[in-house]
Amino acid sequence: MNIANLLIKSARAFPEHIALARGEAPHLNYRNLLRKVSVMATHLRQRLKLLPGDRVALAMTNGVEAIESMYAIWHAGLVAVPMNAKLHPRELAFILQNSGARVCIVTPDLVESISTIKGECPALERIVDTTTRDYIFMAVGDPVAIADAAPTDPAWLFYTSGTTGRPKGATLTHRNLLAMSLNYYADVDRPEPGGSILHVAPISHGSGLWNFPLLGRGAVQVFPDSGRYEVPETVALLRRWPDATVFLAPTMVKRLIDHPAAADIRPGEIRTISYGGAPMYVSDLKKSLELLGNVMTQLYGQGESPMTITHLSRAEHANRDHPKWEQRLASAGLPDSCVEVRVVDEDGRPMPTGDVGEIIVRGETVMSGYWQNPEATAKSLRDGWLWTGDVGCFDEDGFLTLKDRSKDMIISGGSNIYPREIEDVLNTHPAVAECSVVGRPHPEWGEETVAFIVLREGKSATQAELDALCLDNIARYKRPKDYKFIAALPKNNYGKILKTELRKLV
Ligand code: AMP
Repeated sequence: MNIANLLIKSARAFPEHIALARGEAPHLNYRNLLRKVSVMATHLRQRLKLLPGDRVALAMTNGVEAIESMYAIWHAGLVAVPMNAKLHPRELAFILQNSGARVCIVTPDLVESISTIKGECPALERIVDTTTRDYIFMAVGDPVAIADAAPTDPAWLFYTSGTTGRPKGATLTHRNLLAMSLNYYADVDRPEPGGSILHVAPISHGSGLWNFPLLGRGAVQVFPDSGRYEVPETVALLRRWPDATVFLAPTMVKRLIDHPAAADIRPGEIRTISYGGAPMYVSDLKKSLELLGNVMTQLYGQGESPMTITHLSRAEHANRDHPKWEQRLASAGLPDSCVEVRVVDEDGRPMPTGDVGEIIVRGETVMSGYWQNPEATAKSLRDGWLWTGDVGCFDEDGFLTLKDRSKDMIISGGSNIYPREIEDVLNTHPAVAECSVVGRPHPEWGEETVAFIVLREGKSATQAELDALCLDNIARYKRPKDYKFIAALPKNNYGKILKTELRKLV
């Protein structure tokens, strides 16, 4: 059950379809991508002498080479370790050491970083720069047949984004990735052959996972020339390539809808904007639907159960006449087909409908454990259930609402306060561009809420105005006791707001 079979199937079903593109320019069709991948696999096995199960890391900014390399790695029966290109060299060194990668394939911008830390990574034998002969010659020679892989063999070590602490390598097996892809067709979308996917989020993370279901449908995977997320370029590419799907973190969706270029997108021009990875505010979601039409789908997942815990479908987004439409937009939707989802108390007992507890998940997409980290594995995987660290509640219709990470919850005077609820209110103020709410220690109440506010350019809002807005919308005890106006919120390399940094500021 090697996940690289997806490519073989698509190469048979859609040999002439363009498989990869650099910006507007086609790069390889499916037949030739399979050929290239299977020749590269020969090199990995025979020239670099890698053995089944060996790890190959990728330190790459988004580009066609990332897809070529990943499928070559799987085709050869090896394990891919994609690393976010924006990580600090210290973090890259940690991942290389922890994974024990023997080879690291690198885009030229990262060669210096990886070369500097090579000495600290005893297992790392070789760095392959994608612009040198080392890489180019990998495509010359004879193809090799796809390696056998057991469903439980690791395929992808997915290093979590680590908004706290050190990253952990969620071990995703071939079966996990296949189940995740089939779940996409079951619950989210089954794209028509001939569509496209635009990779503007890191390929080492969200966008990389999205590659599978789209590759399985013969879509072209498009990489922007800039290698980054730039709104005008994104809009142009979404319009250039038909029936486009794109994964965007919520902060990226916000940048899109706040940019004048978004108005160029015509109704029906793009297929799907999948968002997830962090909370999306209802105000932003409504604006997206107004501007872009019925293209939004939400996924709630984590590296440990990739893309799959719950989803909010396109149909639910469009269901404006439903009495619970807004409530559902604020939710993460219904559990996915391939998993069971529960909300439980500390002992794992299911909570009554409406009560808040930790979200746990069991099913075909749940990782086999954290790589080389039995303590963390034992904490997260208990009796076959993955404890997500997220808290939330089900409503009577089975929709899951995420409250916050358990550690982000504020406890004030014995009451639980979920920052997201307050952020949702503050975000409705026209002058607020972004905000984030955290707890600050308080001698009497335990904690009190503090709001960090980023104002839109040229706009202003007073503390009194924001306070009045909160008083109009939420319980008095929840409203921030202090407002701090700052130029930008601290974010990690995936665009997630770092509440840990904000807590240090208070
Ligand atoms: P990562 O493993 O880095 O992808 O981070 C996963 C975490 O992101 C989850 O545990 C959630 O806390 C958060 N997350 C993922 N999807 C959503 C979503 N749709 N809404 C809110 N938070 C999300």
